[in-house]
Amino acid sequence: MNLTDLRALEERYLMQTYRRAPVEFVRGEGALLWDSEGKEYLDFLAGISVCTVGHCNPAVVEAVREQAGRLMHVSNLFYTEPMVRLAERLSESSLGGRVFLSNSGTEANECAIKLARKHAHRRGVGSPEIVSFERDFHGRTYGALAATPSLAQNRALGPMLPGFRSVPFDDAGALRQAVCENTAAVLIEAIQGEAGIYPLSDETLLAARQACDEAGALLILDEIQTGMGRTGSLWAYQQTPVRPDLLTSAKALGGGLPIGACVASEELGEVLEAGDHASTFAGGAVVSAAALAVLDQVDDPSLLRRVRELGATLRDTLRVLEGVEEVRGRGLMIGVGLASGIDAAAVGADLLQNGLIVNVPEPGTLRLLPPLTVDSAQIERAVASIAESLLSYTAR
Ligand code: PLP
Repeated sequence: MNLTDLRALEERYLMQTYRRAPVEFVRGEGALLWDSEGKEYLDFLAGISVCTVGHCNPAVVEAVREQAGRLMHVSNLFYTEPMVRLAERLSESSLGGRVFLSNSGTEANECAIKLARKHAHRRGVGSPEIVSFERDFHGRTYGALAATPSLAQNRALGPMLPGFRSVPFDDAGALRQAVCENTAAVLIEAIQGEAGIYPLSDETLLAARQACDEAGALLILDEIQTGMGRTGSLWAYQQTPVRPDLLTSAKALGGGLPIGACVASEELGEVLEAGDHASTFAGGAVVSAAALAVLDQVDDPSLLRRVRELGATLRDTLRVLEGVEEVRGRGLMIGVGLASGIDAAAVGADLLQNGLIVNVPEPGTLRLLPPLTVDSAQIERAVASIAESLLSYTAR
């Protein structure tokens, strides 16, 4: 089937909730993808920070193949070893408490919201509230959506869930004021991803931690995009002065398969009990086996050091390009703010045409989320491509 026919069929049969670029991908390996016409692309988006160990990573493929050939699904009415081993690994690498496995990022956040509300009710709070930052992104199911202020304004999808409020991004004072005895949790991203890669200051993170401690509320860090090595540590919070009470993970966790997790600190592992939360597919043997194979590779000090080094070099190189105003981010989670007047969407389309995949989360920003296994030559190739594209805009 050619691309024209594929697009017509997609339009006929899929709800039109996405704006897709006109490319059909058929194969991937490492940081490279190939389309249906055989053209090669360098992937600096990695399926929105999912394929961080590269496309079709051999160890992940093998783990999936082996597990799928032996046992795929039995439900959470029974035990399987990959699920338990994954929970152990997630817990031991972060907050040390129990884990709820889910199928996506938004579901991981639903679990965190439920846990925080139950925890607040135990403290006698009648109407618990969750506080987030403006432009935070936490997902699209109704709880996570309510904690995603920009999307929660969509009245066509209302009514929204009550019990959520937001404060201006990185405003420590506003956050301190918003957190009160009714606050169940502060749910935030240490680096806003979907908004365009905006890191929170340490000062605000510390203010959030302190405000939560004083109010008896929980600090929840959404590490769905920042986690799994993306910023050069397994979890982004490990490079900040705070430790959250809950963290949520997804995206890169499954190496391309859908899985999420809500990890609790030791004290909070018993809050959710039988009947409070569940999911048929969650923690399935195949996705858990894939996640273990990803963690084997990502939870590795030498890989994480490389992410920090490559990221620093990439950011420094991008910063001096003509047409670049600022470069934000940590590790290989990078936002490139373009000079005013340059349309990032047009640059993104040029880059795609020239075989480099990036994302445009807002009008003036290119977002780079390459696989963590990207090599120096591929980084140079991406920078050359971006420089060349920007030149055609700055020369106008
Ligand atoms: N939280 C953050 C920080 C995200 O970046 C995303 C997805 O982009 C989500 C939550 C939602 O994850 P999912 O799309 O797997 O539901």
